[in-house]
Amino acid sequence: MALNVIMMGPPGAGKGTQAERFARERNLLKVSTGDILREAIKAETPVGRTAKATMEQGRLVDDPTMIAIVRERLMQPDAMQGFVLDGFPRTVAQARALDRIMTERDGGPLIVVDIVVPERDLVRRLAYRRICSSCGANADPFDPTESADRCKRCGGEFIQRTDDSEDVVLRRLKVYEHDTRPLVDYYKDRPTFRIVDGAQAPERVAQELAAVIDSAAAAREPRRAARLPRVDNRMEPQL
Ligand code: AMP
Repeated sequence: MALNVIMMGPPGAGKGTQAERFARERNLLKVSTGDILREAIKAETPVGRTAKATMEQGRLVDDPTMIAIVRERLMQPDAMQGFVLDGFPRTVAQARALDRIMTERDGGPLIVVDIVVPERDLVRRLAYRRICSSCGANADPFDPTESADRCKRCGGEFIQRTDDSEDVVLRRLKVYEHDTRPLVDYYKDRPTFRIVDGAQAPERVAQELAAVIDSAAAAREPRRAARLPRVDNRMEPQL
């Protein structure tokens, strides 16, 4: 059964790291819109050229561009076995578009996980976050043996993301509150919506995340079970 997962949560909640790990463990495609945009900037594509300034200011790239990127990726055959989305949707318009894409794909419901972390922790985490200047991977918080300045995967140098500077982080958190938090209301009544406490150690978050995703996947079962004949297995009243 295909698992289609959205990792939600503010910048610094650990979405990228957790999405990466979960996708690897379950052999799912990971789609990170931030990574796609950073690659487009590196390759100096037309999208990269227009997105660069917007990203550096901590603002959101426009909905039509983002929806087109995600639609194109999710309609490819390798996405039909399931996916983990990191960084999309970020607006209600994007969430609506994603619902339409899911209907077109006819590939099962979305499992939505909201990773919750207090704001003071986010600011501190983002100040320390490092990514590889060569392959773009996050320094791995699961791996205590990872060196502080070199990427284990490719040997590239770890640097701070340009949008992780303090003033841009504060803007990104404001943008999150204004544009992205309303998505919790958009999704919260679905039987496949789950919340995870992201303030715990990454290893613990990963375990909890896997457990809630499995429980959400099981939550789609009752609809099928409802089609089976009902068996009344109540105990007879004791007289
Ligand atoms: P992230 O790596 O997810 O933190 O994204 C980095 C930046 O890329 C964001 O601050 C936005 O400028 C842009 N971005 C990524 N995903 C989206 C999206 N779904 N909608 C709009 N902008 C996005």
